[in-house]
Amino acid sequence: MDSSTSIQTPRTTVGRLRERGRYDRESINAIIDEALICHVGFSVDGQPYVIPMTHARVDDRLYVHGSNSSRMLKNMKAGVPVCVTITLIDGLVLARSAFHHSMNYRSAVILGMAREVSDEHEKRAAFEALVNHVVPGRTADVRAADAQELRATTVLCLPISEASAKVRQGPPVDAEEDYALNCWAGVLPLQLQPGRPIDDPRLEVGTPVPPAVLTYRRQGSPSDID
Ligand SMILES: Cc1cc2nc3c(=O)[nH]c(=O)nc-3n(C[C@H](O)[C@H](O)[C@H](O)COP(=O)(O)OP(=O)(O)OC[C@H]3O[C@@H](n4cnc5c(N)ncnc54)[C@H](O)[C@@H]3O)c2cc1C
Repeated sequence: MDSSTSIQTPRTTVGRLRERGRYDRESINAIIDEALICHVGFSVDGQPYVIPMTHARVDDRLYVHGSNSSRMLKNMKAGVPVCVTITLIDGLVLARSAFHHSMNYRSAVILGMAREVSDEHEKRAAFEALVNHVVPGRTADVRAADAQELRATTVLCLPISEASAKVRQGPPVDAEEDYALNCWAGVLPLQLQPGRPIDDPRLEVGTPVPPAVLTYRRQGSPSDID
């Protein structure tokens, strides 16, 4: 599908600060792909739950997985509507007034009905996508999940067909009269940075750190970081 296609619906239309809303697949996919985690919201007997999980995107499908005994996954299997939220923080926006403090961010909200993945080929592909989402190419270096591990895991698929992104970038926006105040204002950029890899204590001596780990980085916002 064309990456500029809008997947906006009335339910996914941003209300406040509408100019920050984006609805094209390209913008939404970029946020999904950069984030390491998502928050999955669902309701059981009228009680909302929002659970952090890892995720992966394959084309226009979002996958999450977990133990067969996970309450969330058991409930989602049955076809509960879900709301997946993904948030990237790019900076702290420090204004001249307390009221106008904000953050620079890129966030996405996806609404829909998740289905359990029962086809073994799709399940295995989703498994690989989930691992490679964390470290690109990782599945080529490690043992693949065996049949028992696959059976013990539930994989759910959510079509990315009703979604929105919201993006804030740039300096604080203060009330005009506050620009005369003698107070520092601006943006403190924030970025997710890897540290130095730490060998597993039981690592075979001489095993090199793979290039994908040595050069690891998440994408980062082009406007605030540098
Ligand atoms: C890191 C961060 C911190 C925030 N802090 C606050 C805060 O403290 N107080 C506050 O009021 N708002 C905060 N926001 C903004 C908040 O996410 C909503 O955008 C805001 O509450 C306005 O919602 P609304 O009433 O316009 O839309 P709603 O009616 O709540 O939502 C309508 C639809 O708009 C879309 N939508 C709304 N917000 C987002 C979003 N952020 N990303 C993608 N799609 C979205 C969804 O599809 C949703 O279904 C924050 C956002 C981020 C990313």
